[in-house]
Amino acid sequence: MKNWHNTLKIYNSLSGEKSHFKPIVNGRIGMYVCGPTLYSEPHMGNMRTFINFDMVYRYLLFLGFQVKYVRNITDAGHITNSLGQETDSIGAAAKLEQAQPLEIVYKYNTKFQELQRLYNMLPPTIEPTATGHIQEQIEIIEKIIENGFAYMVNGSVYFDVRKYSEKYNYGILSGRKVDELAEETRDLNAQGDKQFFADFALWKKANPEDMQIWRSPWGNGNPGWHIECTAMSTKYLGKKFDIHGGGMDLKFPHHEDEIAQSCGSFGCEPCNYWMHANMLNVNGQKMSKSMGNFFLPKEIIEGSSTLFDRPFEASVIRFFMMQAHYRSTLDITQDALTASEKGYQRIADAYTTLEQLIPSAKSSFDVRALVSSFYEAMNDDFNTPVLIANLFEATKKINSIKENKEQISAEDLQLLKTEYQGLVSDVLGLQISDNNNSSEHLEKVMDMVLELRAQVRAEKNWTLSDSIRDGLYNAGIQVKDEKDGASWEIGEIRN
Ligand code: ZN
Repeated sequence: MKNWHNTLKIYNSLSGEKSHFKPIVNGRIGMYVCGPTLYSEPHMGNMRTFINFDMVYRYLLFLGFQVKYVRNITDAGHITNSLGQETDSIGAAAKLEQAQPLEIVYKYNTKFQELQRLYNMLPPTIEPTATGHIQEQIEIIEKIIENGFAYMVNGSVYFDVRKYSEKYNYGILSGRKVDELAEETRDLNAQGDKQFFADFALWKKANPEDMQIWRSPWGNGNPGWHIECTAMSTKYLGKKFDIHGGGMDLKFPHHEDEIAQSCGSFGCEPCNYWMHANMLNVNGQKMSKSMGNFFLPKEIIEGSSTLFDRPFEASVIRFFMMQAHYRSTLDITQDALTASEKGYQRIADAYTTLEQLIPSAKSSFDVRALVSSFYEAMNDDFNTPVLIANLFEATKKINSIKENKEQISAEDLQLLKTEYQGLVSDVLGLQISDNNNSSEHLEKVMDMVLELRAQVRAEKNWTLSDSIRDGLYNAGIQVKDEKDGASWEIGEIRN
């Protein structure tokens, strides 16, 4: 385990401040992240959340923690939409596509898994499904009823927010006030069987049109949305675990209700640290299905999105996302991606250059301080933009060593190489190795081409020699003829 694991600070959405991270069990971490609802293909905004938690997971592993990372798949239940209505999205999609609900889930899960590979996301330890944990959900609902925090009406079970508020603080995470929610109650007459606006379904009585129905002590029906996360996090991580994450939009009501369910059944909050990842904006507006301003993660790689006039590599998009802090909003534009592409290339080049550096007897700069700056950034609530700025500083040094303007000792070179390459590929998840190989290949091809050209020049065949140079120039490779031979560098492709 790296020494740096002791100084990690995490911004806890519950307390509203950064605090020193201490796992419940030394060296081990339990992390739960709310996964996708698979009634359609996840859009780029959804992916930003998962990519950010992939970075968190990767950094925790990099520090040497043993991490159990649970990310669920929502394949049942009624999801609360932005209007506060509870709808069966998967059932609706199934009807539309004239398929069984689990066919829909399977179809979109296959796509989601493909995207995970494409964006180089590590698979979680387990991806449990709501439909696979109906019994566990029923058992927790029974506990909540037993403890007096839920009531039954016409075959449905609702969480009793007012009763709960007599003992616990409903709104502890989102800052919502039950009194203010009461105000809203009077304006809304569409609350059905609920006694109070903020009450939420733990179990919903089956409707004749429901495609997924399970038996329960309260009759046939299906689970509410929030209870699945309480059931699955408890089953795999225990009643209390370390980190619970999700998109900012899940804070209320989903996560607030998860806290209420945990306190209402087990008498304790589910986790010690709540982490929320911010949204992706398109031209200043949150990307969402309902706004219609979304695009699919594959479209941007294939270049088929109308928002961009050319394709971008998955690693460039990942790098672009890592240039923003996970709690900040991020606006995706063609210009921003183009700028990221250049930055990414500089990092990728330095990554490869590190393999070619020749050590000196002593270092001409403080390599340890530079490496420390990487960890200081990441330990400050996973500050990837500062990490990247520090990697750019290191990139300058790496290039100066290559040009013999700076020196590095063998021991320091080993350290810089391990940490720079480790953070770039293992933590930021950038796939440089393929590029690395291709640039090695290019290196060998160029050695051969320049040698042949040298022979041509020795034979004073200037026409052929110039045409090789011009051909390479058009292919984006600039050849410079110097006293002791020719050198080359990569520029822009001309045609
Ligand atoms: Zn959840």
